[in-house]
Amino acid sequence: MGNLSFEKYDITMDLRDDYTSLVTRSKGRELTRIFLERLEKAKEGDTLILDFELVTNIDFSFLDAFLLPVLRRHQNGKLGNRYLVGLNLDQTMLNKLVRKDGLCDKLKQENLIFAVCTKGGDPYWLGSTDKRATQIMNYLWNVTKASFDRIALQFDIPNTECSQILRYLVGHRVLRVAKTKVQKALYYHPIIEKALWRKLTRPISEEIHEMIENLEAIEVGCHYEMPSGQHAEEFLHLSKVLGSSRFMSKIARKIVDVFGKNIDVVLTTGIPTNIVVAQKIADLSGGDTQSVFANLSERGDHLTLKEGFNITGKKVLILVDVLGSGTVTSLLIRLAKEKHAIIRGTCCIVDTSGGITNFPSFKMLKLSWLEKPLRTFNSRECPLCKKGVPIKTARILPRRT
Ligand SMILES: [Zn+2]
Repeated sequence: MGNLSFEKYDITMDLRDDYTSLVTRSKGRELTRIFLERLEKAKEGDTLILDFELVTNIDFSFLDAFLLPVLRRHQNGKLGNRYLVGLNLDQTMLNKLVRKDGLCDKLKQENLIFAVCTKGGDPYWLGSTDKRATQIMNYLWNVTKASFDRIALQFDIPNTECSQILRYLVGHRVLRVAKTKVQKALYYHPIIEKALWRKLTRPISEEIHEMIENLEAIEVGCHYEMPSGQHAEEFLHLSKVLGSSRFMSKIARKIVDVFGKNIDVVLTTGIPTNIVVAQKIADLSGGDTQSVFANLSERGDHLTLKEGFNITGKKVLILVDVLGSGTVTSLLIRLAKEKHAIIRGTCCIVDTSGGITNFPSFKMLKLSWLEKPLRTFNSRECPLCKKGVPIKTARILPRRT
């Protein structure tokens, strides 16, 4: 079997306005048109992977106008041997789909199957009505491929029954069949292999890491004064990594997954990266979640809230983009305590301290971390100062109010 090619399609990509919430028929119809064009352009044998990672809400009217027309064309052979699979579905969203009178019932009525993987990694064959067929799909998912004889033997079923089920699954394009080059034997494969699925759903920490490297976001050979008073020879410019709005949505989504929606305020400092991520978290948390930004006091020794912000008695999540010595996080914690807010937890996008900086009294999420801490020096022992290298102040804290 040749190389399987695939294309990952962020299902929200072509939607301009609110793209995390897939509701309404008109949105579904708009996406169907765009999506069928894309599917027709795909090569024979390709798999198109619908990525639901950024989707927080989905309803039946959207799916009725989007997924069903696509699956109908796909499974009555109008699109040739092209494959379709959904990825990264939220478990709650999936539960909604399999509920009575939901998508699953409709799929069953129309004799369609939709193959999906949840975020947790379990594959589901929505619409499959044959118990044995589901068992065979799960078996193939685990073993990657198997011959006809192997499958018949594994489930102890007569050849006629086995071939009937396999024809049903191949016909629905949730299973591939290929001949081996040498023996010319037939082998059955799931349309997306477990190993590929793992690659596509790798943890966000790895993704952030890769971006830091590819975008060369760590400046080496600099000389910055940090808010802690430390002098840094290496500095992470996280804004390089956070250039894409969708990537920021992904980061925010992960944070909301961990802390839940029970947050009144995302409290952070007023620098651009923090502002944008905090707003995305607030958006995804729904309800009346606010993002609140703290600025440096006039004397520059503590953080203050701008006039009009009130966090007293509110459930607060503290966010910093980069965690180094923890000075900024400490200042935010102090501010929240002064204002009698309830601290739900703290989070950072990248920990550059090598895992040293922690706030054990609070639930803490580090989305990613550098294995080796960035090089910093105590100001009195800084070799760069001794060499007379000019020093700059790192723009980590907002300007003074
Ligand atoms: Zn120095």
